[in-house]
Amino acid sequence: HCPIAGIIWPFGFCISLAENAHENGVDFLFNSPVINITKKGDIFEINAGTNLIRAKYVVNAAGLYADKMSEMVGDKSFSIRPRKGEYIILDKNAMNLSMVLFPIPTKFSKGILVCPTTHGNTFVGPNSNLIDDKEDIATTSDGLNEIITGARKLFPSVPIRAAITNFAGLRAISSRDGDFIIEQSKVEGFIHVAGICSPGLSSCLAIADRVVLDIMKEEMGIKLQENPKYNPYRKPQKRLKDMREDELGEAIAQNPKWGKVICRCETVTEAEIVEAIHRPIGARSLDMIKQRLRPRMGRCQGAFCTPKLLKILSRELKIPIHKIKKNIKGSELIFGRTKNLESTIWEGEV
Ligand SMILES: Cc1cc2nc3c(=O)[nH]c(=O)nc-3n(C[C@H](O)[C@H](O)[C@H](O)COP(=O)(O)OP(=O)(O)OC[C@H]3O[C@@H](n4cnc5c(N)ncnc54)[C@H](O)[C@@H]3O)c2cc1C
Repeated sequence: HCPIAGIIWPFGFCISLAENAHENGVDFLFNSPVINITKKGDIFEINAGTNLIRAKYVVNAAGLYADKMSEMVGDKSFSIRPRKGEYIILDKNAMNLSMVLFPIPTKFSKGILVCPTTHGNTFVGPNSNLIDDKEDIATTSDGLNEIITGARKLFPSVPIRAAITNFAGLRAISSRDGDFIIEQSKVEGFIHVAGICSPGLSSCLAIADRVVLDIMKEEMGIKLQENPKYNPYRKPQKRLKDMREDELGEAIAQNPKWGKVICRCETVTEAEIVEAIHRPIGARSLDMIKQRLRPRMGRCQGAFCTPKLLKILSRELKIPIHKIKKNIKGSELIFGRTKNLESTIWEGEV
């Protein structure tokens, strides 16, 4: 419980919940966008490319595309527009803030903050601008100037020259005055969790309670049973930064990969990366490793570690190096062979 503003590591939080869900029987289908949904009797048939899923109940939590998902079952009761927020990330130790600096909030957002992160960086942002394109996550010079100006109002000497990267995210704004839509659709069995803009992350556990306890159990009268085998614990990923020197020495003696630092900015070893690939929902792309362990999130933004990460992913997943993606289909980094890439799996060599 956090009675005031708090700071969490959003990737760590989401991945922990997902791994725990997986350990308790939840399946994840990645890279399987839902293309259409048909209802036959009281069963939804969900076409997700190569996967056809049949379900009696569907929770529509498709973020920016929740309106499109809703239209697939004939419910056009709302639409979603993106509201872009841009950020600048400053290097570790550029500032040593111990709290979030908030301006006075506006009707649309908390305003442009200067905020420490859980890993010792500082971010400035976000701004808040309605746009039309649901895929437009580009930062712009106007947007970055807007957040620098906003940050300087709170902290005039904010060291913007210590910026290591910038990025943008899109909030899902509902046509119902921007409010969250957490309700049953007029189509029986279909539940909307739509327009979950900020603070959707902070509210996510309460939203889940609302869906399961208030809507499914109370309103819909579904008989739900607690899983007596539910395991609330998740095996933590072993991290170099948490080890004492003697523990590290022992770990290296057993597995030399503990002594091989792949990401120098964030001090991540090969042993940690290999574990992340083989955990319950294993990392399959550069971004999945980054979100779990932070290589490519530090000062060099992957300039040094990216080739090594590609090789480790290729070796551990037994797939050719040019098929390793940054994240989704089409984001492969390597297009062709220019040198003799020894110890790298290439097409036909698997
Ligand atoms: C700039 C910015 C600042 C924010 N600040 C805060 C904050 O300070 N505090 C806070 O609590 N929250 C904050 N948020 C909000 C928070 O990030 C969101 O509320 C949260 O991510 C919404 O979660 P969601 O699961 O509803 O949607 P998403 O996280 O968008 O997830 C939707 C998922 O649906 C998938 N999807 C879409 N279409 C399909 C399809 N056809 N088939 C299959 N899958 C599909 C998408 O790929 C995505 O994975 C901020 C957001 C932004 C952009």
